[in-house]
Amino acid sequence: MPKLFIPGPVQVSEKTFRAMCRPMIGHRSGDFKKLYGGIQPRLKELFGTTQPVMLSTSSAWGVMEGSVRNLVGSGKVLNCMCGAFSDKWFDVSKKCGKDAVALQVEWGQPVRGEQIRAALSAGGFDAVTLIHNETSTGVMSNIEEISAVMRDFPDVCLIVDTVSSFSVVPIPMDALGIDVLLTGSQKALAMPPGLALFAASKKAMDRAATVKGRGYYFDFVEFAKNQAEDMTPSTPSISLIYALESKLDDIFTEGVAKRHARHAENNAIVHEWVRKQGLDFFAPEGFRSMSLTCIANNKGIDVDALGKKAKERGFIIDGGYGKLKGKTFRLSNMGDETPATMRELLTSLDACLAS
Ligand SMILES: *Cc1c(COP(=O)(O)O)cnc(C)c1O
Repeated sequence: MPKLFIPGPVQVSEKTFRAMCRPMIGHRSGDFKKLYGGIQPRLKELFGTTQPVMLSTSSAWGVMEGSVRNLVGSGKVLNCMCGAFSDKWFDVSKKCGKDAVALQVEWGQPVRGEQIRAALSAGGFDAVTLIHNETSTGVMSNIEEISAVMRDFPDVCLIVDTVSSFSVVPIPMDALGIDVLLTGSQKALAMPPGLALFAASKKAMDRAATVKGRGYYFDFVEFAKNQAEDMTPSTPSISLIYALESKLDDIFTEGVAKRHARHAENNAIVHEWVRKQGLDFFAPEGFRSMSLTCIANNKGIDVDALGKKAKERGFIIDGGYGKLKGKTFRLSNMGDETPATMRELLTSLDACLAS
């Protein structure tokens, strides 16, 4: 099978797959509580929070939709939009019947703190949605800058999607004052898809308790109630929780700081290759993702043909998301990739481009 270098799902290790093959256990059993409770300390450390980390058997969108349904009541939600995923969060907010306000920036640009301040100054907002690392454009917004602005709006909850940046760079939830931090399994964590992880601040939980129409499956109050007994509201994907336990072993064996450094090194190797090829970056300097590179196709490369050649050589790359198809291509350096595996990919792409 060719190896995945698309920005999600990413390549899953044999070790992770093997962890999923452990025998099933009852989700109300002591064995499950031990599994769930056992991973909490490391999850909290990774999230940078003292709050419990909750596990949702859904893709990230379940919790993205759930965050809006739990934290936005009669007030408005400001959706920061700078690419495919963040743009869609606005649509989802409207589909949930919420009073959604779009803060749209051009694809390829980051969302800036002052833009959020200007939008929130109108008043009446319950929450802001932000995608930290917009996977479709390879743009990473500055979470420190944005969370500093949010401190001036203490009644507004900050919901942050870190699906493609979690454990790639430090995102200390409590220190940054993030109210909901969420991520998914199949990108930065290099697990199979199907699990979403999130933590909610006290402010978020207090808000949720007052909001009507939270539903059941993604009700934060329901999650917290079960969490108190090391359980989930409904039957979770126990196999994926085994995979998560195994992944946490990997992360803490390597060391969190070393994991961050490895991603930075992987990313720098791709950047060097982009420059050497005379290609351009889609994102401006200072806002480029550390987990993937979105390359602007300034040389008129036949991206489709490049993708096909790469696949023949055993690598699957992404030919651009949605309206950026062919105008960009993306190379992921997330998950278990190392400088050596990134060089393998890039050497192969050199050969593809020369042939
Ligand atoms: C992939 C992605 C999502 C959506 O994840 P699903 O697992 O498909 O629900 C959301 N946000 C970002 C930043 C992503 O990269």
